[in-house]
Amino acid sequence: MQPLREAVYRLPPLPTVRELINLFGLRARKQLSQNFLLDPRITEKFVRAAGGKKLSNSYVCEVGPGPGPITRSIINAGVERLIVIEKDKRFLPTLQILSDSYDNRVDIHLGDVLSFNMSTMFPEELRRQDWADQPPRIGIMGNLPFSVSTPLIIRWLQDISERKNAWSYGRVPLTLTFQKEVAERIVAKEKGTQRCRLSLMSQAWCDVDLKFIIKGSSFVPKPDVDVGVVHMVPKAIPAVSVPFKVFEKVTRTVFSMRQKYCITPFRRLFPEAMRDEIPGELLQKSGVAPQMRPFQLSLQQFSDMASLYWETCQKCEGLFEYDHRAPLPARQEIEWSNRVHGKDNYE
Ligand code: SAM
Repeated sequence: MQPLREAVYRLPPLPTVRELINLFGLRARKQLSQNFLLDPRITEKFVRAAGGKKLSNSYVCEVGPGPGPITRSIINAGVERLIVIEKDKRFLPTLQILSDSYDNRVDIHLGDVLSFNMSTMFPEELRRQDWADQPPRIGIMGNLPFSVSTPLIIRWLQDISERKNAWSYGRVPLTLTFQKEVAERIVAKEKGTQRCRLSLMSQAWCDVDLKFIIKGSSFVPKPDVDVGVVHMVPKAIPAVSVPFKVFEKVTRTVFSMRQKYCITPFRRLFPEAMRDEIPGELLQKSGVAPQMRPFQLSLQQFSDMASLYWETCQKCEGLFEYDHRAPLPARQEIEWSNRVHGKDNYE
């Protein structure tokens, strides 16, 4: 006979994620790019990449938990509280079972992470006074569909640059999955074949680390590509000083002609009447030879180019809004040129 106390307190074991998927008939929806990571060795490696033991007593937000495989590994890391944001309501019962088995320390939100406001989601006492302080006891992580993770990271980089949303609490680190090629672009260094706008944007505001690659065959169902796990920590001192939109415009325009000499796309930031001298002068001041290709430029050089371009925009109202695909009336071109050359009589 078992002693009575033991018989009363022994709870049935939590079903595995696979069992819950079968129990609730949760087929992954291909049109929603749902691919589940059901191997606990990989979900645990993912959580180690996000900080592992350092997460104990932290607040973690998991985006796109699905049936909860990574969620379990996060719980096992001993976090103080876990907040999950899931768009597909079919997963609510499995997430609720997890929450029930974890002292209700999991808050479940049904919503779209792309529009989710995280600016008051964590306790006030976790907020850091200064941006340069150590990151707060908060982490954000998730394995989202690729169609969501790429626009999301651009949005969140802007939030990081403006210190809003979750980053109103301080330098909250992120651990996210991306299609392998995108992950490689995020961390690509200058002169690398993968170097692109996303590399510059990410590295301008974050220290980035490609932690490991997950083979497509590790997912159920198997996607056509492999997946990279990227850890990003917002920089205490960003590598650029211009507003996000300015750096975004400069990098987008310059990388629009990836294989050309960088002077060619850089000139496109300016209307015809300003193209002869100003772009060349600004490149020279940034220490950039006009014949360099965009992918050969360092983050510092891009930062200097963007600062000098932004300075020019301050002197020339409307220049930032200029779009080379929409030519200006000739009169306006001349007005701008005169203004930049100090012949301004329009004030
Ligand atoms: N985290 C689970 C795993 O690793 O097995 C599921 C991963 S599955 C690739 C992506 C999950 O993100 C799905 O559960 C999907 O419903 C959810 N999702 C997709 N778009 C979302 C969005 N915009 N906001 C919140 N969740 C989203």
